[in-house]
Amino acid sequence: MDEPRVIIIPALSDNYMYLLVSGSRAAVIDPAEAAPVLEALSRHDLTLEWILNTHHHFDHVAGNEELKRGTGATIISPENARIPGVDRTVGEGDTLDFHGIEIRVLATPGHGRDDVSYFIPSSETVSESMLFCGDTLFVCGCGRLLEGTPDDMWASLRKLTELPDETRIYCGHEYTEENVRFALGEEPGNESLRNLLEEVRTRLRRGEPTVPSNIGMEKRTNPFLRAADVRQFIRLRRKKDVF
Ligand code: ZN
Ligand code: FE
Repeated sequence: MDEPRVIIIPALSDNYMYLLVSGSRAAVIDPAEAAPVLEALSRHDLTLEWILNTHHHFDHVAGNEELKRGTGATIISPENARIPGVDRTVGEGDTLDFHGIEIRVLATPGHGRDDVSYFIPSSETVSESMLFCGDTLFVCGCGRLLEGTPDDMWASLRKLTELPDETRIYCGHEYTEENVRFALGEEPGNESLRNLLEEVRTRLRRGEPTVPSNIGMEKRTNPFLRAADVRQFIRLRRKKDVF
């Protein structure tokens, strides 16, 4: 079996959708729009089999029904009536098998009440583990607390820090530059953050995405993972909300 690969597809103003590709078959994570996904499928000659959603927000599900109509793909999501076209719901501890790629479902509430992340552990066929985490963890940031509680989000972020350091992080939005600027205000002496700002600006200037990050890098730079406890986390989250 070939090593699975990930194709990053920008959507809307700052969303990312992802194709997880195994051979000629693909699963899409969080299709905000159908057209760019269909275009990528045809350009890479891929068949879409699964649609995976991390949460119900329109910028993660709006392409669901058109893609399902166009490809016959199966829609898999957390249990949430606001997600259109769902065929199968998943939650904490479930595992999916996408043509030999193991996908573990992690409940990661906080941004919403029922958000999930999809974790692919390294294996014989996957050299580096991967995480698709929607709006829970961002590069150098985390999602806003829209429906979940601070304790939910804190526990979700702790859970993600337990994943292997080399885990590649594919998140839902390109918010990195603003996040790094905020983080530098908190930790101006953090060398990794200063280097990250340079790298991020270079990538954005070239029109390249700043994903994937990885868990080890986030532990060195992400203020929400570096908070000492939930109180400090709450203080940071409130401050970032008005940054
Ligand atoms: Zn969201
Ligand atoms: Fe979003």
